[in-house]
Amino acid sequence: MIWDPKHETMSRQEMRQLQTQRMIHAIQYCYDHSPFYHKRFQEIGLRPEQFKSLDDLKRIPFTVKADLRDNYPFGMFAVPQKRVVRIHASSGTTGKPTVVGYTQNDLEMWKDVMARLICATGVTDDDVAQVAFGYGMFTGALGLHNGLEKVGCAVVPASAGNTQRQLMMMQDFGTTVLIATPSYALYLAEAAEEAGLVMGKDLKLRVGLFGGEGHSDRMHQDLERRLGILATENYGLSEVLGPGVAGDCYCQCGMHINEDHFYPEIIDPDTEEVLPMGEEGELVLTAMTKEALPILRYRTKDITRLIEEPCKCGRTTLRMEKIHGRADDMLIIRGVNVFPTQIEEVLSKFPALGANYEIIVSRDGYLDKMEIKAELVDASLLERFAELEGLTRSVHDQLKAALLLDAKIRLVQPQSLKRFEGKAKRVTDLRNEKYLI
Ligand SMILES: [Zn+2]
Repeated sequence: MIWDPKHETMSRQEMRQLQTQRMIHAIQYCYDHSPFYHKRFQEIGLRPEQFKSLDDLKRIPFTVKADLRDNYPFGMFAVPQKRVVRIHASSGTTGKPTVVGYTQNDLEMWKDVMARLICATGVTDDDVAQVAFGYGMFTGALGLHNGLEKVGCAVVPASAGNTQRQLMMMQDFGTTVLIATPSYALYLAEAAEEAGLVMGKDLKLRVGLFGGEGHSDRMHQDLERRLGILATENYGLSEVLGPGVAGDCYCQCGMHINEDHFYPEIIDPDTEEVLPMGEEGELVLTAMTKEALPILRYRTKDITRLIEEPCKCGRTTLRMEKIHGRADDMLIIRGVNVFPTQIEEVLSKFPALGANYEIIVSRDGYLDKMEIKAELVDASLLERFAELEGLTRSVHDQLKAALLLDAKIRLVQPQSLKRFEGKAKRVTDLRNEKYLI
């Protein structure tokens, strides 16, 4: 079923017309209501009436995360506080968090785009959906929650953590849809296996709606096999909305973008040039219909590519590939750019390795060193030295071929690495730690 056939199946030409209209409106709206954008337009001498087509968009400067931080907390809001009905914030690793707000209309739009994505995965009002994201300031839990209710699911707001209770509720309530980060879902799968629960009998899960972090193809397969589900991914970020920007349909061939609300561009992160359709680069999003916090050309730092070919599901919206890496997560090791996802991709080719790994970067004198710990699937391999050494060498060589870097590989006991109930932290960078003597 398609939730909103009018917007999800319109021709490319109709979509472009609608986007042009909405973009013109968004730019006028920002000029009239957002002191931040008004000032910015004046600085570059742009008057909203000069904006006539989507091609003029490249004249608009990018918005970056620092803009939101510098205007903490409400400096980028475009409505009086009276009209704001919800506030969320993303945790800042350094300094103040990024604060976002929503009007009543924004929340309605959010529910609607979320319902489209949920519906696209095959979830219906017959489903029982357990939300294992942490509630609170994070947009993930409430974003999914409200969309699931709109579709008509019975929503279980379990929140994150307390794995045994999660499993108990899944059994007792007959949960069919799991909402979690992929790493926590995998942790739940391990816990279910340990408790001797049988998929399809004790647990009735059939669909996973995963987000909050990316996952490799291997992790995807693991999730589908171990939980007996269709594992789908959805994408969003609080600065632009929260979840609801894009998501997999049941065909799992790229995430459909709700592009009547969020206009996507792909740029070269270094030159900031807009790249042609299909090329890989940084995703830039404009939220064209938001009232409380309109945002123009937001640099997401996420690396992906867009797909224009029509999808088998019947939707005609552009799709985006799963995130290939984050410009922010990029490590520079001995002058070489490395994305953790590249390492994950190599590790995932070894069936003897599990889905959990850790990357530790340190410095010896002036030389960067990288160590990768990966979990084995079978603990007995640790006693078969020749085999273990062979496997270690082959992981080392394949990583070297892919990254052009030497890394120390340490294969460890199954389930010995730290587990995360939220977003997994894969990288420990010790290079900037002060030495304590
Ligand atoms: Zn599709």
